[in-house]
Amino acid sequence: MCIFVATYVKCQHALVFSVSIGILIRWIAYLHLRKKSTTLLARALRANEIEPYVQPIVNANDGNWIAVEVLARWKNPLSNKYISPAVFIPIAERSHLIIPMTSQLMQKVADTLVLIEADLPDHFKVAFNICAMNCTNLTLLEDCTHFLNRFTTNKIKLVLELTERDFIEWNDFTAELFDQLKKINVEFVLDDFGTRHSNLSYFEKFRIDYFKIDTTFTSKIETSPITRKLVDNILDLAIKLNMPIVVEGIETKAQSQYFITRGIYQ
Ligand code: MN
Repeated sequence: MCIFVATYVKCQHALVFSVSIGILIRWIAYLHLRKKSTTLLARALRANEIEPYVQPIVNANDGNWIAVEVLARWKNPLSNKYISPAVFIPIAERSHLIIPMTSQLMQKVADTLVLIEADLPDHFKVAFNICAMNCTNLTLLEDCTHFLNRFTTNKIKLVLELTERDFIEWNDFTAELFDQLKKINVEFVLDDFGTRHSNLSYFEKFRIDYFKIDTTFTSKIETSPITRKLVDNILDLAIKLNMPIVVEGIETKAQSQYFITRGIYQ
């Protein structure tokens, strides 16, 4: 019996030890991969490989462009293939590289828009995605100021979309930062509403100007009664807050019609 107990205890320890080693090896591999990915992304930024792509937001009534959302795209020069933003954006956000990446995107977009400024409609919105990391220092305010100063008219409205991947902490610094951004007429959008943190306090604290219904809701509007009920309630919230709303990912006529009949035109 004693031998059995001793063996059992020994095996148990061996098991715990081997599990611990397994976790440790995986953790080291993860850290190594993370460091490698961060180094690759830092190099890509230095080499100017991250390019802005714009996604139009159209008025459902007349099809006119009323805004664009700027998205980051990274083409690997060796493979000539695009690397998914779902891969590199989280790396950028975790490693602080999102800050220089946002700066670069704003500069590049401004470089292009100044050439066509005269042809743009009035109140044309240009939206950039920002995350919690962008709100930790004053670079964002400097970037936005430089962006707006590039234009000679007031046609362009700069919009910052607050992504819900990480919670943006509300403290004295963020309060002052958002106050300063409001003073230079930056607008704020709550992005991916209903999918991540969905922190309703954002509406008041960050003085949100409008919000966006995520594409995951839009895609299920025709097939899921629960999604329809949720979306109806989100639209009701927008009406009660007297706030415009943008619907992402409309691909079919039925989806378009669903929102138009409820008074949503963007
Ligand atoms: Mn967005």
